[in-house]
Amino acid sequence: MSPDDAVGFESDSPILQKINTARELYAVWHADLTQDREIAGLLSSLKEAAGRSFSVMVDLGVVAACMRCEEEEGGSCCGAGIENRYSPVLLLINLLLGKSLPDHRKIPRSCFFLGKRGCTLGARHILCINYLCSKIQGMLDHEALAVLQSTTGKEMDILFAVNEAIKKRLRF
Ligand code: SF4
Ligand code: SF4
Repeated sequence: MSPDDAVGFESDSPILQKINTARELYAVWHADLTQDREIAGLLSSLKEAAGRSFSVMVDLGVVAACMRCEEEEGGSCCGAGIENRYSPVLLLINLLLGKSLPDHRKIPRSCFFLGKRGCTLGARHILCINYLCSKIQGMLDHEALAVLQSTTGKEMDILFAVNEAIKKRLRF
């Protein structure tokens, strides 16, 4: 029995089913998808864009603020259930980026994808990319917010493009 089961928590089965589907898609399609020039280019751009977003968040103190939330203030906003927003294709994109997907929830009452050092995914849902809590909004001045939103906006545009290109290829 997992700690979540012990407190009568929601089942992990919906996300585990999606992870299994993503792994099956990866097994059948990964060579095809990574040899497709458009998709390979988009995956590479997405990796770069996600890295840029993370660097900007480090520079602006957002990553440090989120770490304080997790370690000192009772837990981050990455709550259980957010993982259910993820589709098999978005999880497949993570596998194509070289990320491994977990087989169990590491932190009770937190998102299935939250690890000890933050989010374990390379391609996050737009809800995750776009979310700015009131603490972060209050911490950043107008200029810093504009820089952050412009950077994450580019990441979301590329994520949308790669998601659509893969769905088209798989005829999803
Ligand atoms: S976004 Fe806000 S609430 Fe969520 S972990 Fe960061 S500081 Fe905490
Ligand atoms: S950022 Fe990552 S850990 Fe946090 S809610 Fe989104 S997927 Fe889950």
